[in-house]
Amino acid sequence: MEHFDVVIVGSGPGGYMSAKLLLERGKSVALVEKSVFGGVCLNAGCIPKEGLYKLALEKSKPRWKVAVQMVQGKVIEIRDTSLKALLSKGLTYVEGDGELIDERVIKVGNRRLTASHIILACGSKQREPGISPEDVLRGWAIPKNNVCIVGGGAAGCELAFILSSFGFKVYLVREDTVLKGYRNIPEEFALKLEDALERCGVKLVENTKNVDADLVIRATGRIPNFCQERFPFVAVDERGFVRTDSFLETDTKGIFAVGDIVPPMGAGYAFEKARVAVRSILYDKERVFDPRKVPVIISSAYQIGFVGDVKDAKIFVTKPLGTNPKAYVTENDGIISVGFDDSGRLVYCCLIGREVGEILNLCATLLGKNLEEHLSFAHPSYGEIINEILSIKQEVCR
Ligand SMILES: Cc1cc2nc3c(=O)[nH]c(=O)nc-3n(C[C@H](O)[C@H](O)[C@H](O)COP(=O)(O)OP(=O)(O)OC[C@H]3O[C@@H](n4cnc5c(N)ncnc54)[C@H](O)[C@@H]3O)c2cc1C
Repeated sequence: MEHFDVVIVGSGPGGYMSAKLLLERGKSVALVEKSVFGGVCLNAGCIPKEGLYKLALEKSKPRWKVAVQMVQGKVIEIRDTSLKALLSKGLTYVEGDGELIDERVIKVGNRRLTASHIILACGSKQREPGISPEDVLRGWAIPKNNVCIVGGGAAGCELAFILSSFGFKVYLVREDTVLKGYRNIPEEFALKLEDALERCGVKLVENTKNVDADLVIRATGRIPNFCQERFPFVAVDERGFVRTDSFLETDTKGIFAVGDIVPPMGAGYAFEKARVAVRSILYDKERVFDPRKVPVIISSAYQIGFVGDVKDAKIFVTKPLGTNPKAYVTENDGIISVGFDDSGRLVYCCLIGREVGEILNLCATLLGKNLEEHLSFAHPSYGEIINEILSIKQEVCR
């Protein structure tokens, strides 16, 4: 038996962020991984997608196969550097399939790892069989000419834009409008994205009838990658998500769950869940997981980002991003919509535009605050739009 303060199962964003924070605070940590370090996000999700998205925006780009290889080369570099950084902090990295054989014992092959606390971060997997967006981003499935993407969620919209920018004929199958599952994204923004996708050559269709494609990609959603037989002491809900309290402790004391096995899914949420679980282990339960505080960004023919919850807002202010001088000279067709509660606190923000990450992050830091005074921002910068919003807020919330 080898004993650790914490044993973590899964090295995606939830697992590696937990490991990093615990090691930085002097804890002994074992991280168990049955595949490659970094999980979906680093190897086949957020990071390769971001690399290919940046190339998609460039005028001259390499052929698709070369682009995928270039980006995967960078992924390998990040993987090596990140794992080395954790090992240098004292991490014990255990390759193999982890199984909970007692409330504090993880079995990996012939090894038995005991721990004061356990963090499960097993991630998620494609809901339906077939070729997934991950297969395409990894280069395991290579489109020839015509591609059909089934599913108008974030992954479908992002991949449709990337592939059409690389010259493929893309059909995107969605019911009703794209991004339907996001209550924080106004329909007007979803329709604006649809227009932009069509201008890029993406053909929006309701079903696969009459679609002539040499590759069909299923972007129809993901489910928790959690096999209860391997973790018998951990309860799940009817959808297969691990049941936790708001500090991310499971029904079994001392066992925490982070990442996509706890809703909502997404790497940004996974990092925040790791921070909450680690704080709960180190300092007792003092910070709850609040998904509203985590900004989400989708990068397609436009970027769309949101933070907060539209349901908390009573007063809304919507402005064209072009009110901001930098946005006016660089893009001029974005929109920002913000919401305030009864006390005038910023509780919701959604943006659409060419590059909205900077303003979104700013709004995330201001969330829950009662914006009273004008703030100083670099000039020219996108962030200056906050002062425009403040002026209008002072009028409407008077
Ligand atoms: C195409 C695509 C694009 C995406 N883009 C974005 C984006 O732009 N922004 C964003 O926020 N999110 C994005 N996501 C979602 C993001 O990738 C996931 O939310 C995130 O990876 C979840 O992290 P996780 O820690 O739960 O685990 P995962 O990244 O799923 O990793 C889990 C790891 O656990 C390992 N594991 C599982 N069970 C065991 C076991 N029993 N023993 C040992 N190891 C085990 C797995 O091998 C895996 O490596 C994207 C996803 C996809 C598919």
